[in-house]
Amino acid sequence: MSKMTRREFGKLFVASLAGSAIGALGAPAILRANTYRVLVIGGGFGGAAAAKYVKKFDPSIDVTLVEPKEIFYTCPFSNWVMGGLREMKDIGHGYSAIKNEHHINVIHDLVVEIDAANKTAKTQGGKTIQYDRAIVSPGIDFKWDAVEGYDEATSEKIPHAFQAGKQTEILRDQLRSMKQGGTVIIHAPQNPFRCPPGPYERASLFANYLKKNNPKAKVLILDEKEKFSKQMLFQKGWQKLYGDMVEWRPGSAGGAVTRVDAATMKLETEFGAEKADVINFIPPQWAGKIARDAGLTDESGWCPINQQTFESTLHPNIHVVGDAALAGAMPKSGFAASSQAKVTALAVVDILHGRTPKPPSLANTCYSLIGDKYGISVAAVYKYDDKENKIVSIKGAGGLTPNDADENFLSAEAAYAEGWYASLSKDIWG
Ligand SMILES: Cc1cc2nc3c(=O)[nH]c(=O)nc-3n(C[C@H](O)[C@H](O)[C@H](O)COP(=O)(O)OP(=O)(O)OC[C@H]3O[C@@H](n4cnc5c(N)ncnc54)[C@H](O)[C@@H]3O)c2cc1C
Repeated sequence: MSKMTRREFGKLFVASLAGSAIGALGAPAILRANTYRVLVIGGGFGGAAAAKYVKKFDPSIDVTLVEPKEIFYTCPFSNWVMGGLREMKDIGHGYSAIKNEHHINVIHDLVVEIDAANKTAKTQGGKTIQYDRAIVSPGIDFKWDAVEGYDEATSEKIPHAFQAGKQTEILRDQLRSMKQGGTVIIHAPQNPFRCPPGPYERASLFANYLKKNNPKAKVLILDEKEKFSKQMLFQKGWQKLYGDMVEWRPGSAGGAVTRVDAATMKLETEFGAEKADVINFIPPQWAGKIARDAGLTDESGWCPINQQTFESTLHPNIHVVGDAALAGAMPKSGFAASSQAKVTALAVVDILHGRTPKPPSLANTCYSLIGDKYGISVAAVYKYDDKENKIVSIKGAGGLTPNDADENFLSAEAAYAEGWYASLSKDIWG
């Protein structure tokens, strides 16, 4: 008798179980001839959560996560780092639990091509990965050159700090070494962009740092918009804690920037030029490059999806979650990305097993710190509306910090923010 290969033996063994009691109950994962393969691209809030939850919902699925970074630095709490309230190590998360405790294949590489027709992806390092379903969560990229004078090279001198890591450190160091009485300008883009309250929490924590270390300094926000997230609560907090130190200028009053001059550290607007000692320029954004290259984006630059399953409407078998996706009423936030990832993980498992995914419920909670013991929050619950074919927020669910909240309330919100971060990051990378 010729020697049997491992694969042939496996097939025979599974076949022999087919008529047995074990076969009827379903063979253990390791004995399956065909294990389903799920590929997850991006190990941030959406991707790492999706990989972990696919495996939780069905441990027999072979899950591969591709992410170039060995340590992922979160944007949430990066404003706290720049404001001197946290260190970089506090916002860095590795992948050892995902690898060793949750048994996900983690490849530190960059996906450079997705072949939707053949269900394969290629990495920069030369690997080709076959999948049955892919979940793509590449986050955002910047529209370099959308504003004259601001490109990727300029971001070394004038950081965006809207992807955490080296950019966070550059801006933190610039703030710390700014001359006494200097001016820092934060430029906030038009909607939609990652983390709608992000620039305003940043202004708050810059002011919090400067009040203690550089009390004559000024924080000027040049905004392309006419209004912003949690505006009343932020402006009330700024007035109370920082007086005139923080100034916000809407687009119609000189906030819209037409040109960046890195050599002279000036931002040109229709109302004249503003000079600063430190500039934080947050450019307009679109979905991460791999989503655009793979044809997952429409003319908006973001990814249209079936909002019940997060499957791309442009390419079958590929789901898109997180900031890159057009997810109805949901904002581009880390909590929203993780909520979408769980719904998508369940939908993917259901689809692979021939079941119809159930209509999803989703949530978002977002805390912003205005001062050391001064926090505010917004929470919302969402559902898929089959009449409108999209995700809508449920009226009356969720809420906002009340406008007349007292000191105890605001201090409790600041403490809840810390719990929020600890539990969310543990849920995703722990
Ligand atoms: C200053 C600031 C503060 C914020 N604060 C909060 C907050 O308090 N609460 C909150 O909920 N949200 C907050 N956010 C928003 C939050 O960071 C994002 O919404 C969240 O990161 C989106 O998750 P994601 O998975 O879409 O993208 P990301 O978390 O950015 O992950 C994308 C990952 O994909 C990887 N990737 C990209 N391309 C490829 C490729 N081709 N191959 C392999 N991997 C790839 C990237 O390396 C990256 O690690 C904040 C954002 C900012 C900027």
